[in-house]
Amino acid sequence: MIITLKKNNPAQVEPLITWLESLGISPHFIVGKQQTVIGLIGDTGVVNIDLIKSFDIVQDVRRIKEPYKKVNRKFQNDDTVIDINGNKIGGGNFQIIAGPCSVESWEQIYSVAQSVKTSGATILRGGAFKPRTSPYSFQGMQAEGIELLLEAKKLTGLPIVSELMNISHLPLFEEIDVIQVGARNMQNFELLKELGMLKKPILLKRGLANTVEELLLSAEYIMAGGNENVILCERGIRTFETATRNTLDISAIPVLHQKTHLPVIVDPSHAAGISYLVKPLALASVVAGADGLIIEVHNDPSHALCDGAQSLTPYEFSDLARVVREVLPFAPPSYTYCSTPNKVICPA
Ligand code: PEP
Ligand code: MN
Repeated sequence: MIITLKKNNPAQVEPLITWLESLGISPHFIVGKQQTVIGLIGDTGVVNIDLIKSFDIVQDVRRIKEPYKKVNRKFQNDDTVIDINGNKIGGGNFQIIAGPCSVESWEQIYSVAQSVKTSGATILRGGAFKPRTSPYSFQGMQAEGIELLLEAKKLTGLPIVSELMNISHLPLFEEIDVIQVGARNMQNFELLKELGMLKKPILLKRGLANTVEELLLSAEYIMAGGNENVILCERGIRTFETATRNTLDISAIPVLHQKTHLPVIVDPSHAAGISYLVKPLALASVVAGADGLIIEVHNDPSHALCDGAQSLTPYEFSDLARVVREVLPFAPPSYTYCSTPNKVICPA
């Protein structure tokens, strides 16, 4: 349920808040550019809409039918902008994250970090703990991989994204700038609850067989705990098609923008599974309104310990980054999706 206020006058708002809290409802204030709204979290079935309307300060009350609240565009109309060490994502700010699937050695991570930085990547990715289908595959360099990432951060200045699979590893991630929740953990609800207690940005990847609504509910788990810094990532879903590793759900980009204020980035590498497809999928994502890209780059893809087939060489990445900059002006502006009057795409 959301309450739109006539004006944000604390003296008049307080009795309303006290009353709502007495019903076990937590009010969540969103002070927007145009208006202040209060989102109600809890069992709103117990609240009588007419009683809310009887408060003078209230302009309008609406029930939100979707099961996700804090991530809902109806709750917060303005795009969330997430700041990663000065690199903003969302609300018209676009970033390219790049790096290897897994950290393999100092020489590898440092050379990839330097080359992607030169080509325009602003954030470095690298897996230290790898979710592998086979227990016999390379599982990542683990704690040592994190150390190498932090060393690369020190020397290049690039903030780091890395995947956390087990909450017991959290102390190792203290200086990691963005924690990735991988596709296979999108519905690891206990992990999501723990990450909800942090303030660090979370990159939440869509599960292999999950709907947009399920992705939004997983983001809701993190936000419900108090962590508002969630970046959503479309990375391809399983379909009957076998020509690609996954099927990139391009429609998810505008659909998510319409349903949520959270930034949406795209991982064309895991969607494609093969390097020649990464560039066309990246370009399609940008024009469909992605707020950023996450791209796998390896200095020697044919010898990569993980996901070599989909990894770009540094040269291919620089070409991708160049054409992405060329098409960015054609991307829909973020306001396209807002539900305020005079905007184009959103249904009323
Ligand atoms: C990754 O980013 O290397 C990864 C394993 O991604 P996903 O969880 O999307 O498969
Ligand atoms: Mn990978």
